[in-house]
Amino acid sequence: MHIKKQRLLTPGPTPLLPRALHAMMASDIHHRTQDFQRLYRQVLADLKEVYATTNEVLPLVSSGSGAMEAAVSNLFRRGDKVIVCSAGKFGERWAAIAKAFWLDPVVLEAPYGDVVTPDRVAAALKANPDARGVFVQASETSTGAAHDVRAMAEAIRTTDAIFVIDAITGLGTMPLDIDGWGLDVVIGGSQKAFMIPPGLAFLSVSPKAWERAKTSDLPHFYFDLKKELKSAQSGESSWTPAVSLIISLGEALKYIKELGMDKLIENAQLLAAAARAAVTGIGLDLFCPHSPAASVTAVKAPKGMDSGVIVKGFRNHFGMIIANGQGTMKGQIFRIAHLGYFDFADLFSVIGALEIILNANDFPVKYGTGVAAAQNIYAGAALAREAVGA
Ligand SMILES: *Cc1c(COP(=O)(O)O)cnc(C)c1O
Repeated sequence: MHIKKQRLLTPGPTPLLPRALHAMMASDIHHRTQDFQRLYRQVLADLKEVYATTNEVLPLVSSGSGAMEAAVSNLFRRGDKVIVCSAGKFGERWAAIAKAFWLDPVVLEAPYGDVVTPDRVAAALKANPDARGVFVQASETSTGAAHDVRAMAEAIRTTDAIFVIDAITGLGTMPLDIDGWGLDVVIGGSQKAFMIPPGLAFLSVSPKAWERAKTSDLPHFYFDLKKELKSAQSGESSWTPAVSLIISLGEALKYIKELGMDKLIENAQLLAAAARAAVTGIGLDLFCPHSPAASVTAVKAPKGMDSGVIVKGFRNHFGMIIANGQGTMKGQIFRIAHLGYFDFADLFSVIGALEIILNANDFPVKYGTGVAAAQNIYAGAALAREAVGA
């Protein structure tokens, strides 16, 4: 037998930053003490710095979907018309949450693997001047597609609508100039590029969005953004926070600040470019070739092969946990993640393993073809010469 290290390589949860993981051991502090307040204030300030915005950024104790729900239940009124860009499973989630809270969504759908273009958003706003909000995924993790948030913001800014962005895998993988572009609500999640376990969500809220909180009539209790803001201003959270995760987040934010958010983004983008070069070099097709995200690369399984065979091959032979497709994409694609604490050593091994798995399943690949494509990208990149250790 041989050793198989377990490696978590999915686009959420992502690999954990060791120092952030170790910091969780010091969770024996009470959340209504000065010790915690000091930590929480620092985390709030660092979140704001990493988000690079003057808007308030609030953490919530939930997975990312909790912050999606909070944005809907705190900033809208019953019956509000909203525009939902839906290009995958997470876009569908926006439409489902909007309906659950009695909003009236106009859904702009794009086929899986494609994106909703900014001109469709502009046209929908013209056709629906009463629209009170626009919802989108910056990065649609289920298909590996990236939306042009900047151009969408341009069309939304001058209207009454607020722009609500699920950037749960967009943060740390693509530039998001929240203040410059006018992004009203930007949502993040701890288990993505923030490199810590699941359980925290974040959202930045613009002054235009806070105005909406004043008139919202939708039911909410636990996710009360106004209450949460007031608590944050006194260095506390409204309810008992996930202390261990807040401590962990503190360490991760320190690391991200040392590295630089721009470098974290560049890291994901470079890995994504190398992954695309590698898989296409092997002869596989990208699921979203036109507007690929840097968070995750979705790859079509070869004709006649279930992608589950590849996912299983990774797990059984190499202990690598790789994401299959979601919903109807299950069996069709597999997804290689790049967001957060991923490096080229991870990618080289993923591609090397992939070549072995494909060969074992009657899809001949000359060993080293994909790995060489990734190596070439690494060798040509300036980033390679300034890697920052954790
Ligand atoms: C992970 C993810 C979410 C949140 O899912 P949770 O399971 O609630 O954390 C939402 N949107 C996108 C695009 C994601 O990748």
